[in-house]
Amino acid sequence: MKLITLPSEFQKALPILKKIKEAGYQAYFVGGGVRDILLERPIHDVDIATSSYPEETKTIFPRTVDIGIEHGTVLVLENGEEYEITTFRTEDIYVDYRRPSQVSFVRSLEEDLKRRDFTVNALALDEEGQIIDKFNGLEDLKNKKLRAVGRAKERFEEDALRIMRGFRFAASLNFEIEEATFAAMCSHAPLLEKISIERSFIEFDKLLSSPFWRNGLEKLIEAKAYNYLPGLLNKKQELRALISQLKSDFQFHSSEQAWANLILDLKITNVKHFLKVWKTSKDFQKKVLSIVDLYHIRLKRSYSRLDIYQFGKEVADLTELLRQAKALETDFTAIEKLDKELVIHDKHEIVVNGSYLIKELHLQPGPKLGLLLKKIEAAIVEGSLLNQMEAIKAFTIKELENE
Ligand code: ATP
Ligand code: MG
Repeated sequence: MKLITLPSEFQKALPILKKIKEAGYQAYFVGGGVRDILLERPIHDVDIATSSYPEETKTIFPRTVDIGIEHGTVLVLENGEEYEITTFRTEDIYVDYRRPSQVSFVRSLEEDLKRRDFTVNALALDEEGQIIDKFNGLEDLKNKKLRAVGRAKERFEEDALRIMRGFRFAASLNFEIEEATFAAMCSHAPLLEKISIERSFIEFDKLLSSPFWRNGLEKLIEAKAYNYLPGLLNKKQELRALISQLKSDFQFHSSEQAWANLILDLKITNVKHFLKVWKTSKDFQKKVLSIVDLYHIRLKRSYSRLDIYQFGKEVADLTELLRQAKALETDFTAIEKLDKELVIHDKHEIVVNGSYLIKELHLQPGPKLGLLLKKIEAAIVEGSLLNQMEAIKAFTIKELENE
């Protein structure tokens, strides 16, 4: 198969292939980018594979960065763009089902394609627009089938993350999984326990954020893979509920929203702990927790101005969108209105601070002052106190008298 026109991202990268070839090596576009051209999907990355070894690649281009030399990857900076150029390689020795303990560089494209996960990800494209298809990836692409390259069982034994990637691609591409591949995903699912949680998180997160997340999650449930993921042991019913309780065309608006929904459906009480086990960042934990907290508040009452101030409009909108997907009553106008009414959006916008009160009113620093500042903040947000020096001073004196 030959492509007549290449997307502009690839057109722009053609001189890179040409330069490598002029230096006497082979070079091809590979990976998800090639698959996505054929599926007419948006292109994320233009990855290049070459027969030149990293040290050789570095002599071809004036500006390079060593980003993963041990895996054979060199970052090349050309025409204001960045390209990852990776030496053809095989991954031959796996000791613990995780990462190859040794990477061998090779001079053959076919060897490199052989170690890739799925046939649709094992296509290469040369500078003439010719597709190199050693494993019938084109046919699988046409039939929307995800098929492991080579013997599925061996491939999942080498790197069990490929099982998670399989569910993830079912979710992003809306593909079916070929029978033998799926059977191997089921039988080898227990190996997921050996995978680093960070890597599993990336794939599960991408799955949930994909347009066809239902397809990916259904396959993950069917394979019983949840039993080998953190906090999901025996959670079949809850994960099923996750699919059935959301409107059939609903897609998550953010990764945080997806995880908040997962937590709500799993009825997890210690949210922080669950997200810690998944080794997520503090910032991520905070964002997910705000959606979960606000969701619970909203089950009891409508939003207040203070809610919008504390959680922010974005979190409130994400929460309300979840309610909408669950066919609960919604009020986006209230969020909009309350947000517009806010006279401050951050405590630093208050015209006085702790040290001012200490100086002016001879107060002592400490928890009491902290509480007082919180009261001032809430009163300003709720509209019962003006954000003015004199008004705040009077409010403070009155509060102290009432103690
Ligand atoms: P996306 O569009 O989401 O980036 P992708 O197919 O480009 O999908 P990447 O994770 O970016 O996926 O990996 C790039 C390519 O590297 C894949 O297409 C595949 O050929 C290969 N690959 C990545 N991870 C693995 C793995 N664990 N085992 C085998 N091959 C892999
Ligand atoms: Mg990619």
